[in-house]
Amino acid sequence: MRYGKQILVPEFGEESQKTLSAATVAIVGCGALGALQAELLTRMGAGRLRIADGDLVSLNNLHRQLLFTERDAEEGTPKVTAAANRLAALNSEVALRTTAERITRDNIAAFAEKADLILDATDNIATRFLINDYCVRNSLPWIYTGVAGTTGLILPILPREGPCLRCLYPDPPSESDAATCAADGILPTTVALAVSLQITQLVRILNRTAVPGTLIRLNVWDASVRTTTAHRNPECLCCGQRRFEFLDAEAPDGTALATAVCSQRMVRIDSRFWEGAFNVERALAAAAQNGAAVERKGLLRIVTAGARRISLFPDGHMLVHECTVTDEALAAVREVFR
Ligand SMILES: [Zn+2]
Repeated sequence: MRYGKQILVPEFGEESQKTLSAATVAIVGCGALGALQAELLTRMGAGRLRIADGDLVSLNNLHRQLLFTERDAEEGTPKVTAAANRLAALNSEVALRTTAERITRDNIAAFAEKADLILDATDNIATRFLINDYCVRNSLPWIYTGVAGTTGLILPILPREGPCLRCLYPDPPSESDAATCAADGILPTTVALAVSLQITQLVRILNRTAVPGTLIRLNVWDASVRTTTAHRNPECLCCGQRRFEFLDAEAPDGTALATAVCSQRMVRIDSRFWEGAFNVERALAAAAQNGAAVERKGLLRIVTAGARRISLFPDGHMLVHECTVTDEALAAVREVFR
């Protein structure tokens, strides 16, 4: 039996295997956290997996992102495409659905529909507050996980039973204040420890042995894992007052038109750039007229104008390479597609 060795573990047993095999897990992000989450869940026999990510594999991902190869980096393969190829070879019984887009308030409902649980594998604060709103509103469990350097913080969130992310952080820290792997670096061993704890919590949520409010702090360098209990804040805007600002567009949610991508020298431009329906042929015709060269690479179109290289995705979102300043990236795409 394929899963016999994990079923033999008394804490896990037949019951956990049954609930895991029947579960649909949605993974938001396919970087270091998402790739390892997906690999473990695939090997352990999760029923259905969904993964969303709008990025491409690059060489500086490989030290910590387990599913990807040098060839994926050379070819600039979308992460979800590279992940799907590898995961299918690991366990053909797991049904996988991928979305080559970043999760926003417009697509989160379609992405998470009928999921039993959402795993946080994002690289930004804004998306986590969006996931929190969605999950509290729909009483869907999710697991927050932030990692930087040698440290990590994990909070399984069970709406109605324990605190939500806004009970702990009433207002999101600004992206510049937040520790991000672009600024701080990250050890792959930090990621591996964090994901091990996160996936174990997932198993316990599914088999109903999770303890609400379990806040886990880890430091891989010090070999320490400390657990405390976090409590609900009755005044919490989200789970207390049931105001879903990030989902309902009352607050700027950080899904800005242009965002610098964590740890890579690129800026992502949202598909809202096109203002109305995106038409790929029209966009490419405009680029050609403005002197750009267009090359097709799988799902992508690579648009080159002088030293500027832009990856254009089927849904209209773009990555401007070798650029870290959002205004500069926006000016570049306006110039190319004007
Ligand atoms: Zn709350």
